[in-house]
Amino acid sequence: MKYLGWDELLPGAILFSFKEDLDKDASYILPEERPYAETNSHEAYVGDWRVMKPVYNRDLCIDCQFCWVYCPDVSIISRDKKMIGVDYDHCKGCGICVEVCPTNPKSLLMFEERIPNEEALAKWPEKE
Ligand code: SF4
Ligand code: SF4
Repeated sequence: MKYLGWDELLPGAILFSFKEDLDKDASYILPEERPYAETNSHEAYVGDWRVMKPVYNRDLCIDCQFCWVYCPDVSIISRDKKMIGVDYDHCKGCGICVEVCPTNPKSLLMFEERIPNEEALAKWPEKE
């Protein structure tokens, strides 16, 4: 396959999301089982502009799914209405998930990208 640069694509060009036609709505297929096309951003690491990252604390989460609903990058991973974690390959570090998390203390907090998650979890604040 020959890849085109953004300035080589013609106006109105279409990038297909999947390698083949799906026989059902993609939302009914788990993301890891969808036949993504090579041109789909799901196949690329696009998290490298992030300077801050959301860290998830399972011990506090009530699985309300607010973070999943509001994330503009579909980077919250949830299965069977249980929050699992953050897709760091695609998360841009906008912090919206942290803003909407209702627990006290929050179950998601922003930390600098360079801080390991285990270290961030050890610094978690107490209930206010
Ligand atoms: S920081 Fe932004 S992009 Fe990343 S998971 Fe939270 S809401 Fe989504
Ligand atoms: S918003 Fe907070 S409490 Fe709700 S599912 Fe996400 S991390 Fe858990």
